Amino acid sequence: MADDSTAAARIASVALNLPLSKTFDYLVPDRLRGQVVVGGRVRVPFGNRRQVLGYCVELKPSSPVPEGRLKEIERSLDDQPLFTPVILRAARWMADYYQCSFGEALHAALPSGVRKGARRLRARFAVLQVTCAEAERAADELFSRSPAQSKALRALALMGGQARAGELRRAAGTSRPSLDALKRRGLVSVELRPVESEDPLAHAGLQAQPVTTVPRLTDEQQAAYNLITDRVKRGRFDVVLLQGITSSGKTEVYLQSITEVVRMGRQAIVLVPEISLTPQTVQHFGGRFQRLAVLHSRLTESQRRQQWDRIRRGEADVVIGARSAIFAPVPALGLLVIDEEHENSFKQETTPRYHARDVGILRAQLDNAPVVLGSATPSLESYHNSLTGKYTRVLLTRRIGGHPLPPVEVVDMREEWAGRGRVRPLSRRLEACMRGSLARGEQVILFINRRGFAPFIHCLRCGFVVKCPRCAVTLNFHRKINALACHYCGFQQRPPSECPECGLAGIRFAGMGTERVEAAVRELFPERTAIRMDSDTTRARRAHQEKLAAFGSGQAEILIGTQMIAKGLDFPNVTTVGVMNADVALHLPDFRSRERTFQLLAQVAGRTGRGPAGGQVIVQTFMPRDPSIQAAARHDYEAFAGYELPHRREMRYPPFGRMARIICRGYRRERVEAYAAQLAAALHKFCRELGDGSQVLGPAPAPVAQIRGRHRSHLLLKCPDSGSVQRLLNQARELLKGPSGVKVVVDVDPVSML
Ligand code: ADP
Ligand code: ZN
Repeated sequence: MADDSTAAARIASVALNLPLSKTFDYLVPDRLRGQVVVGGRVRVPFGNRRQVLGYCVELKPSSPVPEGRLKEIERSLDDQPLFTPVILRAARWMADYYQCSFGEALHAALPSGVRKGARRLRARFAVLQVTCAEAERAADELFSRSPAQSKALRALALMGGQARAGELRRAAGTSRPSLDALKRRGLVSVELRPVESEDPLAHAGLQAQPVTTVPRLTDEQQAAYNLITDRVKRGRFDVVLLQGITSSGKTEVYLQSITEVVRMGRQAIVLVPEISLTPQTVQHFGGRFQRLAVLHSRLTESQRRQQWDRIRRGEADVVIGARSAIFAPVPALGLLVIDEEHENSFKQETTPRYHARDVGILRAQLDNAPVVLGSATPSLESYHNSLTGKYTRVLLTRRIGGHPLPPVEVVDMREEWAGRGRVRPLSRRLEACMRGSLARGEQVILFINRRGFAPFIHCLRCGFVVKCPRCAVTLNFHRKINALACHYCGFQQRPPSECPECGLAGIRFAGMGTERVEAAVRELFPERTAIRMDSDTTRARRAHQEKLAAFGSGQAEILIGTQMIAKGLDFPNVTTVGVMNADVALHLPDFRSRERTFQLLAQVAGRTGRGPAGGQVIVQTFMPRDPSIQAAARHDYEAFAGYELPHRREMRYPPFGRMARIICRGYRRERVEAYAAQLAAALHKFCRELGDGSQVLGPAPAPVAQIRGRHRSHLLLKCPDSGSVQRLLNQARELLKGPSGVKVVVDVDPVSML
């Protein structure tokens, strides 16, 4: 792959996957001249290590470092670039913006299977060289002379004419020599073939079912389609915010717009939250697009490598995947779709802490391709950008099929619980609605919000709550093992019988876990079948799928679960949805807690009323007058945004400013706290010098003040814009490296404050 310029270049700049802010120059030795490419991997000596993996990011004739002091590249691993020029530029931007190294950004842009050069698994296959009928005849003839060969031949014919050699031997009960004999007779050939299919549907155990009828778009959909395809045809960057209520046909708009992209010979990338990347979604896209590639965390390394190679060779028209698919090396990006753009899972929570939506927008700009952000409840950041004209907003206001969004009733749990000794998880109103639905042969979903919440123990008199001694989070009660357990580190202890603080004997369970709701449901509806789904019971993905299938086919009438059931499910026979504890998300220490609550309730409400039987949503809450709950009950995004945005503006929270979170952590609390204070003091000074209203909040113990024995202290930078965030972080760069014993983590545009 050597052109003249690479052949002439004697110096390579190499980015290493280490937290080092610069790249390093290496000499390309004569034996490797022309073999090192920009965007390829190299092995280089570094420090006292003989070899580390790096990425060549530039080739040049000379270096500012005197040649005698340059080390040589040991080995070149690629003769073709792994990164397109656009992805190299995007990674460079990520490194600056998210305060990581260029090498770390490149590392994140490459699936591990590709990084390590995972090899495709191959195996010996026996393939019939004659027709099955001829094989049967030959088997008859061979039977008396060589029963083993005869059996093997017959088995191969029965297996459809080809099979893995091992499987064939097992099926026929024969040995390897009989296969060799059949090979000599010219009846069978033995070939090395890839074991795994390249077909992403096959990875999920699916088959493509080509769709023949494409629905005619509604007027609203058509308007969205026209706007998007106009940008596609002109190859013009623009961000289109497709705000459509659940079931308004957003996916259909993506599919038909992508059809246009493919017709033009370009490719589309569709990002979805990992949780929506179900076999159904994959099959749905597979039905429309034969040349589909899928990237998600459940693929094996070699499968990921295969998909990636297909994408790079231009063999996939459409790439669908979770967060990291934003780096898919399609040759000519024609459209980028980010579905459920408000989802937090697009933000990576380890270095580099990038947001796939923001990296995606940058990439599309470099690639001259439009972006579609789809959501029923856009992030306030994206919504705000559409108000200021930075993005173009298109609305889908009606559900396909005309079913209205279901009525949402808010039940005040303070009234339900007042004066009762015992706390009932199911309000009388919810119970009555469930009875109604079940009597009509319909189904019920009970949704328990557990984001940062689970059943805990508290004292009725003094309010004492039992916490994990290591992680400082509330311990959750698990009935099956009769123990309190920590969801961070796994610590367990027996529930105390009396309050350790004040000695009251009646220390009580509070809150609601799936197990507790399940027990209450069994008590109230002993004759009905209920299924419980939460992270404890669905660790295995298979179990998860089986439970959903059981519910979908009507084997169970009641589904009880955490937020994992709030997304992407479509059960037309569900007519009552109960939200057991709508306000727990409101108590998270996070400026987005109201937005989260609104999104969650809107999401849940969208799960019902899809079928002809209609449906209703019962929201149980101790804060019935909270604006996010009120607006969600009326399905009114504008009302919510209208309430929330002025608050954000007043407090100068995003979207009216930018933030960075700096976490200090370490085993010795005093050290961590002292360093956090030192850092805060330095940043205070920088903010004052900058004089644009930038502020430092903290240091404070992080809401989760300990994880696995490490203490965590954090501070927040609150600035008018991202330029100021960058400036301050760059000014503090040396300090952000931290002293020994304290690790400093910088999270730009944080989505989690825990
Ligand atoms: P969303 O992504 O907004 O939740 P979908 O695109 O999944 O909505 O559409 C909901 C349902 O309506 C799907 O079953 C889809 O196949 C169907 N659908 C979408 N658009 C049309 C249309 N124009 N005509 C008929 N059915 C449609
Ligand atoms: Zn007490």
